Amino acid sequence: MTEFNFTRRKLLARGAALPLAGLAVFGVSRAAAAGAAPACADPNVLDSGQMSIRESLNYVEQSKDPMKVCNGCGFLKDVKGSCGNCDIFNGPANVSGHCDSWSPKA
Ligand code: SF4
Repeated sequence: MTEFNFTRRKLLARGAALPLAGLAVFGVSRAAAAGAAPACADPNVLDSGQMSIRESLNYVEQSKDPMKVCNGCGFLKDVKGSCGNCDIFNGPANVSGHCDSWSPKA
């Protein structure tokens, strides 16, 4: 005979633990993602024109394609650390970033 050793208290405790574990994993993955590609530009400092061109060209701080990153793009200049200056944006871009204007360095 199978014995179910679940009390109401145990079930409630386990039910509360699962969402907390999910939040912990979510927080770690967000931190890992942020650590992988630090933002080079503070969106609170960029003007509306700079934000608009970034959005229209689908700029991301971390490219999905490791072969097409800003560091391999001919428009990125003055690289210091993980950030450089994008000629298209006339502003900062991440060496690991990407946008629709990506063009390989000559
Ligand atoms: S044009 Fe796009 S891919 Fe090239 S450096 Fe600028 S943001 Fe990066």
